[in-house]
Amino acid sequence: MGYYVGDCPNCGARLIVEYEKANNYFELDLSSSHLEITYIVKCWKCNKIVEATIWADIDEFPLKINLVPEDKAVIFVCSGNDMFTNYTPTEATKTILLKCNEAPENYYLFQTKNPIMFLQYEDLYPPNTILGITVETDNDELVKAITKAPLPTERLHDFEKVQHSNIKAYYMISIEPKMKCNPERFASLLKQLDLDFVSIGADSGKNRLSEPSASEVYRLLDLLKQFTFIVPKKNLNRLLNKEKN
Ligand SMILES: [Zn+2]
Repeated sequence: MGYYVGDCPNCGARLIVEYEKANNYFELDLSSSHLEITYIVKCWKCNKIVEATIWADIDEFPLKINLVPEDKAVIFVCSGNDMFTNYTPTEATKTILLKCNEAPENYYLFQTKNPIMFLQYEDLYPPNTILGITVETDNDELVKAITKAPLPTERLHDFEKVQHSNIKAYYMISIEPKMKCNPERFASLLKQLDLDFVSIGADSGKNRLSEPSASEVYRLLDLLKQFTFIVPKKNLNRLLNKEKN
C-alpha cells in the first residue's frame, strides 16, 4: 500500500511510496526539536532521487500541572500530524515510539483523533507517556462535514477502551479548536473518563467554525474544573473576550 510522504524538493510533485520499497533513515535530535523520518525515493515525475520527509515536528507542550516535574519537558510528538490514523504506516509509528524510548526520562504526549489505534502499540510506549485525543465538541453533527476521523462521541468511546487496556499512561483530552457545544452534556461525557488534564483552546478564527459564546466556554470550564485539571491555551482568550466589545 502506498502513502504520501511529502513533496519532491526538485519539482514539487506529490510523492507516494510503498513502504517496503523506500529506504529510510531516522533522526531524533531533541535539542533542535527535530524528529523525522526521511525517505530516499525516486520521484515519479522528474526521475530524480530525492529525500522526502514526514513528521518533522516536536513541540514543547506548555504544561504546568503536578504530574510533570518542573525540570522536565513535555514533548508533543508529531504535533502537526496524526501518527495513529488508519493510513499511517505502522512501521513508521513503531520506529518513532522506539526512538522515544531511547530517552525515557522525557515526557511524551501522543495525540490523535483515532484513539483505537493506540491499542496497536500497547507494549511500545515510553515510561512517561501521555495519551490524548482531540475532541472539539460533543456535537457529532458539527464535526461531520470537516473531518474524516471518527466522530467525537466515537473517539471518546474508543478512548475509554484504551484506558481499560494494559497501557500505562496519563490521559488527556484536547478541546481544540473549541466549537459550539452543550456544556452540560460535554462535561458529563468527559467525566466518564479518567482524565489527568484537559487542554482547551480556540481556532485561529479564520476557518469559520461554529464557535461557542463566551458564556458557554465559561460554563464548560466551570464544569470541567470540578473533576480535572484545565490547561488553557493562550488563544482561548479570544473566545472569552468575544462579548466584551
Ligand atoms: Zn520531482
